[in-house]
Amino acid sequence: MKYIDGFRNPAAASRLRERITDLAGTLKRSGRTATIMEVCGTHTMAIARFGIRDILPDNVDLISGPGCPVCVTEPGYIDAAITLAKKDAMIVTFGDMINVPGSDMTLAQCRAQGASIEVAYSPSSAVALAQQHPDREVVFLAIGFETTIAPVTTLVGTAAGKGIRNLSLLTAFKLVPPALKVLMADPTLEIDAFLCPAHVSAIIGSDAYIPYTGPKGVPCVIAGFEPLDILLGIEGILKQLINEKAEVENQYNRVVRPEGNIKAKKLMEKYLQPVDARWRGLGLVTNSGLEIRREYETFDARKKHNIKIRKGKEPAGCLCGDVIKGKLKPTACPLFAAGCTPDHAVGPCMISSEGSCAAYYKYSR
Ligand code: SF4
Repeated sequence: MKYIDGFRNPAAASRLRERITDLAGTLKRSGRTATIMEVCGTHTMAIARFGIRDILPDNVDLISGPGCPVCVTEPGYIDAAITLAKKDAMIVTFGDMINVPGSDMTLAQCRAQGASIEVAYSPSSAVALAQQHPDREVVFLAIGFETTIAPVTTLVGTAAGKGIRNLSLLTAFKLVPPALKVLMADPTLEIDAFLCPAHVSAIIGSDAYIPYTGPKGVPCVIAGFEPLDILLGIEGILKQLINEKAEVENQYNRVVRPEGNIKAKKLMEKYLQPVDARWRGLGLVTNSGLEIRREYETFDARKKHNIKIRKGKEPAGCLCGDVIKGKLKPTACPLFAAGCTPDHAVGPCMISSEGSCAAYYKYSR
């Protein structure tokens, strides 16, 4: 608790705020603004929760990026899971996914019609369910970024080791760095810097951002999730912008190493291979996903059950694609807090606990 308090120290936060205000003033005097994208959904929640957006000078804008795994997963993925459920597979998923709309219904609605959909808090629940129901096909909905990919991937090793044949993974894994490339290339966004994710960076390492820096790049500053972490990250970005630098800076070096977590990376490499992946809002991004390697394809639900994941149909009126891309603030969606609230959510950005719309609704109205 003492440790956490240190990163929420009000006096230190005030000093940082003053320094940020001074730096922003320097930028302003040369007619410049700073548009900073926080890439991670947990950052989005923390920024909203601690009111950080509200204390920033008016020429420093924080926009949310594609860092919520549930939000970037397209409706066609839910459709595929529902198709499997209707074929009598037992679907195992993390909580937020159950209420995300597919083209025609959610997994929760499918369950209400009698399908077997189980909510799990850990991937190991899928193994336990497969062992308890040897006569059923169990399909785990394997979504997430680098942080969750490694632990979820252990399912394949565990199932292979235990000789479990009725478990497979419907993968929609996403890798963060390739998405940065797409965002930087979009001329409508004009992103000046990335506040890079903490947990993802602990896996991939700070060196993973080097390709996005340099003469054609932008500052990439890794920050933790506490208020002082985030303010330090913003301060670091402003200093780089003033000095016209674009470097990787690791403000979260109490956790993140340049090389990342080698063990986790090896585990991913053992079971998974790169693949082009579709993201809500970003479309098809080259080598931005991971799928199960051929030698383990009996655990790949797509191949085992011969199912294709298509794009699917977005919920009517929902602008999550633009919100995910940082093109639109949640409050600019006509449905925000009107037709779309956490109790009656229209799109995944309001449903997910890491969604931008949920963060703005909870803390910034
Ligand atoms: S407010 Fe609701 S409808 Fe609008 S973008 Fe967010 S989730 Fe979609």
